[in-house]
Amino acid sequence: MGTKTIKQYTLPAASLGNARTLKAIHYGDQSAGRKAYIQAGLHADEAPGFVVMHHLIDLFDRADAGNKMEGHMVLVPVANPIGISQWRDEFLQGRFDFFNNINFNRQYPDFAAQIAEQVKDRLGSSAEDNVALIRKTAGEILGGISPADEAAALKRQLLMLSFDADIVLDLHCDYQALMHVYLGTPLWQEAADLSAQLGAEVTLLAEDSGVTPYDEACSRIWWQLAKKFPDHPIPSACLAATVELRGMADVSHAQAQQDAQNIFWFLQRRGLIKGAAPELPPLPNEATPLRAVEHLKATAPGVVVFLKAPGDRVDKGEVIAEIVNPLADGSEDRITPVKSAVSGIVFSINTDRYARPGRILAKIAGKEPIKEKGENLLSP
Ligand SMILES: [Zn+2]
Repeated sequence: MGTKTIKQYTLPAASLGNARTLKAIHYGDQSAGRKAYIQAGLHADEAPGFVVMHHLIDLFDRADAGNKMEGHMVLVPVANPIGISQWRDEFLQGRFDFFNNINFNRQYPDFAAQIAEQVKDRLGSSAEDNVALIRKTAGEILGGISPADEAAALKRQLLMLSFDADIVLDLHCDYQALMHVYLGTPLWQEAADLSAQLGAEVTLLAEDSGVTPYDEACSRIWWQLAKKFPDHPIPSACLAATVELRGMADVSHAQAQQDAQNIFWFLQRRGLIKGAAPELPPLPNEATPLRAVEHLKATAPGVVVFLKAPGDRVDKGEVIAEIVNPLADGSEDRITPVKSAVSGIVFSINTDRYARPGRILAKIAGKEPIKEKGENLLSP
């Protein structure tokens, strides 16, 4: 007898007769006390995650049939029913809400202060009790939020499904990129097995990226509260990560099947699924600070010719791309070189080849911070 159940959540309609639904697949004992949550397509135009979900559902169905689910698992295969409907000029555009231009993975509620206010006199000396109290309080606060619009309702619903999970994986992809992972700094080294199992060549750490993406909304409250209440044990109880499944066009069954299998083994190693995972592969590279990432920007209009590709190691000052301006007549250069300000790994480049001043052309993971705390550390 399987444990799989499907729940539908209806978002408040933004247009008459157009209410959208969010589908969540639950496995295992929903009161197990251990929980993992995985979603794909919060940026709805990022395709690889949907195919990984397809293969993950296969793996979970088989594990469930074998009575192997140890925890409560929640899969949301299509996390953004608003974005997935936003077609324009032949392209799906699922990153920004057409209504207000807000990125679907930014500006999640930051409710640590509210939680702190409510738990400050009730925390004790048991980490386990503190975790339970904080989760209960977080659930009550989320339940009390009145979303201002459809996207806010979606954000609240996604958080309602995941705020009490031990593990949250938010599957994304970049433009043309290596597999990479974003994590809260306090979660590293404990979470190094995630990057190792996924084969992530770059892992980027921040305590606060400045814009509250989904994973941070789930995980950051724990170290915020731990800092605020140093006399009470408060562990980082939610390992939330944004997993960037390479580039937009990196969609294949072979790769998605392997990525799903890696996630499955990670969960198995964490005790959420019965059975032994194979030996953990070596971590490709040590994690680096998100504050050390250079978002390499164009300084001139033109057409970009990349001299480097994702995976290349570059030195500070090295030319990553050239911007070609065929109209240049001598008063300006036909070629504008774009140089890296850091030594590190090129982990993403843009997919199209048009530059305008200020546009991000490539992302390079350096080792030494080049940005201040509190700055927005993510791309738009
Ligand atoms: Zn994304």
